[in-house]
Parts: sequence; C-alpha cells; structure tokens
Amino acid sequence: MCGIVAYVGDRTAYPILIKGLQRLEYRGYDSAGIALFNGEGARVYKCKGKVKDLQALVRDKEVGGSIGMGHTRWATHGEPSDANAHPHASMHGTFHVVHNGIIENHVHLRSELARRGYAFRSETDTEVLANLIEDVYREQGVSAELAVRLALTRVVGAYGLVILCEDEPGRLIAARKGSPLVIGVGEGEYFLASDAMPIIEYTDRVIYMNDEEVAVITPDALDLKDLYNDVKTPEIKTIKLSIENVDKGEFAHFMLKEIHEQPFSVTDTFRGRVAAGGDKIVLGGILDVMPRLVEARRVIIVACGTSWHAALVGEYLFEKYARVPVEVEYASEFRYRDPIVDEGDLVIAISQSGETADTLAAIRRVKGTGATRLGICNVAGSSVSRETDAGVYTRAGIEIGVASTKAFTSQITVLAMMAFLLGSKRRTLPADEYRELVTGLTRVPEMIAGVLEQEAKIKEIAHLYKDAPNALFLGRGILFPVALEGALKLKEISYIHAEGYPAAEMKHGPIALVDERMPVFALATSDHLYEKTAGNIQEVKARGGKVIAIATRGNEEIRGLADQVIEIPPCHEALSPLLAVIPLQLFAYHVAVARGCNVDQPRNLAKSVTVE
Ligand code: GLU
Repeated sequence: MCGIVAYVGDRTAYPILIKGLQRLEYRGYDSAGIALFNGEGARVYKCKGKVKDLQALVRDKEVGGSIGMGHTRWATHGEPSDANAHPHASMHGTFHVVHNGIIENHVHLRSELARRGYAFRSETDTEVLANLIEDVYREQGVSAELAVRLALTRVVGAYGLVILCEDEPGRLIAARKGSPLVIGVGEGEYFLASDAMPIIEYTDRVIYMNDEEVAVITPDALDLKDLYNDVKTPEIKTIKLSIENVDKGEFAHFMLKEIHEQPFSVTDTFRGRVAAGGDKIVLGGILDVMPRLVEARRVIIVACGTSWHAALVGEYLFEKYARVPVEVEYASEFRYRDPIVDEGDLVIAISQSGETADTLAAIRRVKGTGATRLGICNVAGSSVSRETDAGVYTRAGIEIGVASTKAFTSQITVLAMMAFLLGSKRRTLPADEYRELVTGLTRVPEMIAGVLEQEAKIKEIAHLYKDAPNALFLGRGILFPVALEGALKLKEISYIHAEGYPAAEMKHGPIALVDERMPVFALATSDHLYEKTAGNIQEVKARGGKVIAIATRGNEEIRGLADQVIEIPPCHEALSPLLAVIPLQLFAYHVAVARGCNVDQPRNLAKSVTVE
C-alpha cells in the first residue's frame, strides 16, 4: 500500500521522483505529492488524484533540487484530499515526512501534542508523527536523527518513512517497521522506495531495510542503526529485475498483460524444479527442512485475498496426495486468535508481495512454538522470505495489476509441487501417479495458452452480462476455491456484486437470488464430481438463471444444459484450477473494461496490503 520514492545525490531529483511514483502508482493512487530540496527550504507540491494530476500541478513550477521525496497515497486516516496528501510538514516547518502505514496511537499523541500547542492541517496520522518528531527535536535539543529515533520509540503501529529536516538539508532519514523500504545504492547517490521498481533502472544494488532500523543517508554515506542506536551493517544484495518487466507492452492494461503471461509465468515457477521425464521435483528452498516437512502432523496455511484462495486449492492437494490434515486460515483472524500450534505443525504463509501485514503477523505469531514456518511469495528478499525458516519463490515476475492473476496460478503451481513432493516422500502418492501429475504439470502452460485463445468468445460473453447487478460462481471440490476467485476478480475490478459458493451450498441460500438477470458460472469440468455439478446447473436453469459453464472439451452434453460454454482442455483433475481460472480472469477483465472501470487501479483497492 502506498508508494514512497526518494532520492539523494547530484542529479535533479524531480524526474526520478515522478517516474518512480508512476512505477509505484499501483500501490496507492488517491493522492500524490513531492517535496524537493535545494538547500534553500523545501518546495512541496501535493494534491488529491493521480500522479498525472500532480504533474499538471507542478507544470510551471520550480522543480530544482537534488534531494527529494515523493508519495502516492492509499488513505487510511482522512479522506483523499489535497490537505491529507503527503508529504506532511511539522507545524513549524522543520520536518517533512512521507509515510506508508498506520500510527495506531495517533489519537493519544494528537491530543498530547495539541495540549502542547501543536495545530494540525490534515486529518492524517502521519502529520501527528511529523509534529511528534518536531516536538522531541525542539524540547530535547537533539539531532534530527535522534529526534526521529526517540519519537519512533513512542509510536505504536507500522511505518515506512522518509524524513527531511530543514536544519540538516543535505540528508534524508529513513525508518521502517512493518511497511517495506528498499534503498538503492548508486555511485554518489542513493534511491529509496517502497519496492525495487523505481530503483532498477538506476542500480541493481539494494538494501532491504529491516524492522526498527533507521538510516541516515547523504550522497556519499549511509549510516544504519536500530531504534536503540546499535550500529547495523547494511547487507547489499544484487537484484535481477529488468525494466521491460514493468511496462505494459502491447496490452491495454497490466492485468491483461499478466493474464496473458501465465503460460510463461507458470513455466518459470516450475522451471529447473521439475526434472524432464516427470520423476523428480526439487525445491531448493525447502531442502534443509525436508525431514521436518515429511514428519509434519498438520499443515496450517495462512493468507489473505487471492492467496487465501490458492491456499484452499493447496488444502485439497496436500490432503489428497500427502495425506496430511490441512487448515486454511485468514491471516487476519489467525493472528488474533489463540491458535494451538506446536512443533508437529507446518505453517505456510502465502503472500504475493511477501509484505502483507496480516500474513506477516500470523507467522510472527507462531514463532517460538516449534512449528516449521514456510513462505510462498513472489518478491525475493521480502519480509515473508526473511522471516520464515524456508520457502519457495513463485517466480511469477512483477505483478502490477491490483487484481492478482499470474501470482495466483504460480502460487497454485508451487503448492502442487510441494504436495506432490511430500506425497512422494511420505509414500502416500504412488510413483506412477506422481509421474503422471508432474508430467501433467509441465503441460499446463501450453494448455493455458489454448484457453487464452478463446478470449474473443469470452469477451462476447462478458458483453452479454456486463450490466448484471449480481453474479454467482459455483464449483465443487478443488474448483470451489476457483469459484471464490472468479467472484473476487469480478467484484474487484467491475464492482458487480458476486459470490462464490460450493455448488451444493447454493440450495442453502443463494439460490434465492437466481432469476433471469443472474449469470451463474458453473465450473463443470469432467471430474469425479461432474454429475453433481450438472445437477446444480439444472436447478439454476429450472429457476430461469443464465448459466455459463466452464467445461472440459469433448463434453457435448453440457451444451444442452448451459447458455454458454467455455471449454478447457482435458487435464488431470488436480491441475484443473490452473486452467479453469483463466476464463474467469478474462471475463472479469472484459466486463470491467466494458463498464468503463479503471482495471489496473480499481477504486478503494491497492496492491500489497501492508496495513492490517
Ligand atoms: N496513514 C497514512 C495516511 O492515511 C499513510 C497511508 C498510506 O500508506 O498511504 O495518510
């Protein structure tokens, strides 16, 4: 959530900040702002709206200065408005702050500061922090850096922060707790950002800040400490991201590009991990903990949103093939329960960004219980990857579309590989079926490509139903989570109310919604539950509902049952979610475009939910 970008060096900061904000706009986009410093006081420009609105605001203004910070906001405290946009200045103008996260004790701090004479121009928690830092600075007569550290020891909540003190204009102060911050290391210059995207065109050397670290950065030096003044040694990593990955190319939207990338992203997920011939899976990231995985008595998967749906697919796969009981938990609920977890448990956290606040909190919650903690995430070096005992990267490539698509299929691919591997090691999955599954997995990319070829037809169907007020998605077994995912995609980007249900549950309530205006997606592939799902389709038809079936090629019967049929190629039932979800992603996309919605920046949402 929210994008921070900052620069200190000898170039003009402004173009770096604007380009960086454009690259980060998928993280938050209700307002944008920058502060530029040229040694004579800050120039701050900020407004409600997108980065392009900020550019328009700045058009004829002075934008010199080789130090600067920028922000695209995803409002948590106070509506999107010019006043609430970042950067925020402290009351006497000594400090400028951009912030990602939430200061949870802002009410208490605000009233304390108000009693001490501080006035506020915005409704944000961030301005409270700016004033708190200034208050400590003025009262205690300490350096800006110490004022920041002392103030942060009083803060409850999460932050990624970049701060500039007007009295010490040649340096930026950065701090992190809970919300990510990456420092790019150049020659005589440093870059700061919420993720590596704005940095990669300038340098491939980065430092991922850890929680409770504070960095003081000048063009030539980086001084890293923890909140309590202990010196830390920055660990410089080399990242392999190329700039082509962050452009839309020939596609109208990032989401569409990412949907079409899935034959390649799924291949990247299993490449080098699955041996040709299908008799071996090697997952280097979990080799060290393999004995503990094989012995695990229970698997708990914690996740949010689309990752939670992938986790549900994982539940079917682990239980069926590795014969280990699985519980799938919303990370946000799990973290506040009193869960019973011990050393026989394997806790798997799934998060595209690896920074999802609730998912991180859930794995922290089980630290010290003896449980083995694994991460499945897409971003190398992210918090999930650093705070788990072991894990597997999804390698889906950068995902910018707020509605996750390729990350989902890559997460399922990882879960499938893990389940098959564990099944083989636990001797619950016979060798011939193991080989069949692994070989089947390697064929999925070409099958996804085949499903994508039906886009024109799916677009037509989308146009038929674009004005529907509601939609229902039904599935059974391993396709039930896909029904949930199809409904979520539609909700997220087209704002049509949609529900995903186990097909049989429909009779326990949602069938009351069915009428001739109600599109009902039925995931009716030729698996062991097909006959049951076909029965549910009849029930919908009997009540005048419109049925769009996702069915296996070669099933002629379904044409007589459903109003529209989208075919997927025959495949092993265990792998069918990877194919069945593709038409649902395309459907949601084309409905949203037809309704004139902003697909890549849907209202109220943001990528990478780093607040709870
Ligand atoms: N809590 C801050 C605000 O509402 C920061 C939100 C963000 O991460 O964009 O302004």
